[in-house]
Amino acid sequence: MVYDRQSNILQGLAHPVRLQILSELAVRPLCVCKLMVLTGRRQAYISQQLILLRQLGLVNAHREGLSVYYQLNDEHLQELETFLQKLINKLQSQPAFHQGAKLMSQEQMKSNVWHEIPRSEIAWYPTIVTDRCIGCGMCATSCGRGVYAFDYEANHPVVVEPQMCMVGCTTCATICLYDAIEFPSVGWIRQLIREKKVLRQSKGLLKQYPEKYDVRLRRNAVVK
Ligand code: SF4
Ligand code: SF4
Repeated sequence: MVYDRQSNILQGLAHPVRLQILSELAVRPLCVCKLMVLTGRRQAYISQQLILLRQLGLVNAHREGLSVYYQLNDEHLQELETFLQKLINKLQSQPAFHQGAKLMSQEQMKSNVWHEIPRSEIAWYPTIVTDRCIGCGMCATSCGRGVYAFDYEANHPVVVEPQMCMVGCTTCATICLYDAIEFPSVGWIRQLIREKKVLRQSKGLLKQYPEKYDVRLRRNAVVK
């Protein structure tokens, strides 16, 4: 069937260690020894994952002296990327997709709290300094929370969902090369944390949900 190949590849990708191996190989070719160090896994385990990745056509190998180096198979990854991009384009062209996204955003807004403080009571969101903004769009295209829209006529971003901004996050300001995004000060957010006794609530969460936060339990969850 026409989708068998993509389905096999996606199943092969659905594994934390294989994803880690691929992301390391995306930076540079590596031998098994290096991958053992980076993943903290035994040789047999890494070799097993590499065999599978090679069978899926995602990884190639070549010999350098006594070592075998593994690298991404760009051709097959490109094919997968094209397939996924087509799928995304198709989904985005469906009115139901936009309706669903809108509903999700409204639902999120209703239940939007930060450490039990209603998000509407926290004035943490970006402000655009339009005089400095050159309209590159980095902020709007990088924020994964839909905080920004872009005004194509005025050529600058607009903050349309301020309460979707993650409290304490300043990523868009960090990546704006023109310092055109401002946030409340660090002192302001720390004062809020003190006033609202967030530390106590955070400690309570650690105690209440060890299955979510305990490093040992988390590691075991990843180990297969
Ligand atoms: S990243 Fe900075 S310069 Fe670029 S659009 Fe956003 S605010 Fe403007
Ligand atoms: S700080 Fe983070 S979450 Fe908030 S608008 Fe910028 S990128 Fe989005």
